[in-house]
Amino acid sequence: MRRRRDNGKRRERFPPPMDYQPLTKDDEDLIDAATEVIRENYVRGKHHVGAAVRGASGRIFRGVHLESSGIDTCAEPVAFGTAAANGERGFQAVVAVTLNDGREPRILSPCGVCRELITFYGPDIEVIFVEDGEVRKARARDLLPGPYADS
Ligand SMILES: [Zn+2]
Repeated sequence: MRRRRDNGKRRERFPPPMDYQPLTKDDEDLIDAATEVIRENYVRGKHHVGAAVRGASGRIFRGVHLESSGIDTCAEPVAFGTAAANGERGFQAVVAVTLNDGREPRILSPCGVCRELITFYGPDIEVIFVEDGEVRKARARDLLPGPYADS
């Protein structure tokens, strides 16, 4: 198959645009929870990202990322682990917020590893992220087409 060249005049998005969903009051509460947890626990060089996950029960669980000499753990899995340790088995939504050097908080998109993890725990989990400077929400499955599967 021959690919058509567009000479850079018309750049098509790949993958195609996602099915974004509007943010709700619950989403704002989740963003607030992620912001609060990192504001309360910010430690330069150790914790500068917070995450919040809303479980199927509606409860919100929080976590902060862990930094060390070369091996870091993102805030999202810490929040999921906290939820699991408290009996939560299903998840509705997740968001991470960074507070680099104590500056204003901003939403952080999940890294590739976290996209795998979130998708594994629920392809329909809503993920709040940033694209082109805009806060968006989409299902985990839309953020990771063709996720890893061992079967
Ligand atoms: Zn991550």
